[in-house]
Amino acid sequence: MVNYLGVSSVRELVRQVGLARFLQQLVDAMDSDYRRWEQFDKSARHAIHSPVGVIELMPTSDGQLYCFKYVNGHPKNTAEGLLTVTAFGVLADVDTGYPLLVSELTLTTALRTAAMSVLAARHLARPDSRRMALIGNGAQSEFQALAFHHLLGIRELRLFDTDPGASLKLERNLARLALPDLHIERCASAQEAVRGCDIVTTATADKRNATILRPEMIEPGMHLNAVGGDCPGKTELHADILRRADARVVVEFEPQSRIEGEIQQMPADFAVTEFHRILAGQAPGRRTAQEVTVFDSVGFALEDFSALRTLHALLQQYPHLGTSIDLVPQMNDPKDLFGLLHAPAPQARTALQPEPQAA
Ligand code: NAD
Repeated sequence: MVNYLGVSSVRELVRQVGLARFLQQLVDAMDSDYRRWEQFDKSARHAIHSPVGVIELMPTSDGQLYCFKYVNGHPKNTAEGLLTVTAFGVLADVDTGYPLLVSELTLTTALRTAAMSVLAARHLARPDSRRMALIGNGAQSEFQALAFHHLLGIRELRLFDTDPGASLKLERNLARLALPDLHIERCASAQEAVRGCDIVTTATADKRNATILRPEMIEPGMHLNAVGGDCPGKTELHADILRRADARVVVEFEPQSRIEGEIQQMPADFAVTEFHRILAGQAPGRRTAQEVTVFDSVGFALEDFSALRTLHALLQQYPHLGTSIDLVPQMNDPKDLFGLLHAPAPQARTALQPEPQAA
């Protein structure tokens, strides 16, 4: 039987582990996986585009474990009451090719993206960063806000969204947590939100070359965590920000980022640093307090590998939160697949076992 983690199971797992601890575990897993970069089978993700969105497959393997994620990006969806991004994925054993875990990855993607943003910021933002602007206050935003608060020491959040209801929702969700040392302010424009900030996170969804940040908004020493530009024709930064002489652009996996990231706006020889090189000591992180750093985040399969193996490990500690599905036949004679059709009902079971409902 194959392990299965649905949305309510992952939600319960996060509750039991605690959000800050869960995020830290993801940061640790990604840190250790990025440090063994050479072991991974890497390719730009496979994307099928439509006029309104994209559906992508993201595979990778370290030779022992294999994973893939199915993920979509449909910015128009929220107007129809649907999420912009949904995902699920599989972790499998390379030795047998058998799947070990099938999991929801919608919540998990938001968690792992926030954890990856923090991991990058630990090397690229000024260590005394306390004030962050958060532009785009949709589904990803609370995860980004809380990861930066708990794991990076952000104390002041300045919010902007073209939909004021999204900022109100974010403020309400954070207020519910009663975090005494987190000050939140809603702003009337991106320009107002960004002013005087140490870090600027952009997590907007719009299927166009948007200019959420313009060159005149960028102050020396800022770290830009550009999360929302992650598809051909879908960017957030004005290209002149990337062209700044004092700017340093860091990407996850260059061949994928050239297609999908902010750097799709730049010529093919535009200089970037792959993040794993910083962890390996082959390239510096932030060099000066004045440098403008850009983490051109698009989301790479290795991060989902780290997340899936973290979920799989947690499932060993919290076995009651998972369930199993009969995704792969279990048989006495593996050459007699046909015999399965005539096996008695319990062996030929096809229905999913119901997932336990979280309290
Ligand atoms: P969402 O639709 O829930 O939220 C996006 C928000 O952006 C909305 O509230 C919308 O009103 C706002 N917005 C749109 N245009 C804006 C503008 N010009 N100025 C200010 N706000 C604006 O989407 P989400 O799930 O929060 O995802 C946000 C973005 O992050 C998406 O583009 C998604 O593709 C991307 N994403 C990236 C990664 C990664 O690894 N880099 C992972 C997950 C999601």
